[in-house]
Amino acid sequence: MLGTFLNRLLQRLYQRVIMIMIILFSLGLGVAFVGTYYLSIYWVDSQAVQYSSVVIQTLNQARRFYSEDVVDRLESIKGVQVIPEYHAVSGGIPNPATFTIELGELLSNQSTGTIFRLYSNFPFPHRQATGGPQDQFERAALNYLQNHPQAAYYRKERVGDRLSFRYTEAVLMEPSCVACHNTLPSSPKKDWKVGQVRGIAEITQPLEQGLQTAQGGLKTIYLALTIIITLAMMGLGLAVGRFRTLNQELEKKVAERTAALERLAMVDELTQLANRRQFDQRLEQAWKVARRQQHPLSLILCDVDYFKNYNDTYGHPAGDECLRSIAKVLDRSIRRPGEFSARYGGEEFAIVLPNVSRMDAIQIVTTIQTAIHQLQIPHRSSLNHASVTLSLGIATMIPNANYSPEQLIQAADEALYQAKHQGRDRYVVWDNP
Ligand code: GH3
Ligand code: MG
Ligand code: MG
Repeated sequence: MLGTFLNRLLQRLYQRVIMIMIILFSLGLGVAFVGTYYLSIYWVDSQAVQYSSVVIQTLNQARRFYSEDVVDRLESIKGVQVIPEYHAVSGGIPNPATFTIELGELLSNQSTGTIFRLYSNFPFPHRQATGGPQDQFERAALNYLQNHPQAAYYRKERVGDRLSFRYTEAVLMEPSCVACHNTLPSSPKKDWKVGQVRGIAEITQPLEQGLQTAQGGLKTIYLALTIIITLAMMGLGLAVGRFRTLNQELEKKVAERTAALERLAMVDELTQLANRRQFDQRLEQAWKVARRQQHPLSLILCDVDYFKNYNDTYGHPAGDECLRSIAKVLDRSIRRPGEFSARYGGEEFAIVLPNVSRMDAIQIVTTIQTAIHQLQIPHRSSLNHASVTLSLGIATMIPNANYSPEQLIQAADEALYQAKHQGRDRYVVWDNP
């Protein structure tokens, strides 16, 4: 049950193999396209994170260096003032935060669209306008990094009309800064502790270029994939087509062989007449039809006279040839559809004649006898004639419940026996006792 179901399923799948392959390939292609698309996005994002992190660390390092190795040394020199508003004061130098902000401004680039910003919840008064968070992202970054000072906060969003990557890290209060921030008169908060989040460093960079590069690569990959898959599909189509042709040829050969085998099972090899098996089947059918239609069914059984002697005299191959010649004569006596001749046994033949009366059967037998005589196959060891002869028995019945095909055969056989007994080379008609 399950086996049949599986077999049918496999057959169906096999019939639709090309369609299934196209679907599978298309699915594969779709998965590959989507996969590479997301891979490219991931690649662009990770590049942006890495680049941003390096820039911010560079700026942090620059500020630390400036604070510890420049400011600390210059502070002790008379007349030098380290202050945020250093431009307006002679001897003024930027404090580290102002230094970083201005360095960031210098790094910000109009043409590439990169923006660097430093902001906090406590900007100095002169930076009140821009020193605090300016939009929702900056507020969110401040909020997040206050609680996760060692992490990075970033996301993609539109800045103006460009899709940009915004990346932030916390700037922590360092030992070299804390004293200054807690004492400067303009400082908005004076209770800083080392390690507290003093502000946020942000770098914003447009993603178009990275995306364009990635998309250019993607296009090449898509094109290559499409070409490879198209070629693979064509190859596969050809292979399946060839396979189908081979299969059809094979099926044809099997059908031919089967037909040949069936023929072999039904036809006598020596004479090419119906063999005994076919004779039995067709007689049975003819009997049924004749019984239904209440037509006469005639059967002729014939046997070669003194054939053992013939073999002994002329040899077995000559005997075979003789049987073939007789078979041809018998086959020629068949005229109407449904009539047929068969090799009944060794040198015995049968002719089945549906809807042929006894008189007509006698007519046919006479024709056969004449034709056999005309063959004039020499038979010097025959006891009654110089050439090969036949003895024939004829039986005709209108089938009914009292008779069977076997009885028809028996009747014809009895008549044949009579013909032998009466001297051979003759026919006897079975007479219903
Ligand atoms: P009768 O007139 O009584 O029929 O005598 P007969 O010799 O023909 O009868 P018998 O049954 O004694 O011998 C039949 C012979 O037919 C014997 C056998 O060797 C031969 N025979 C049967 N089949 C074949 C065959 O296929 N080829 C050849 N060459 N001989 C066959
Ligand atoms: Mg015989
Ligand atoms: Mg014989």
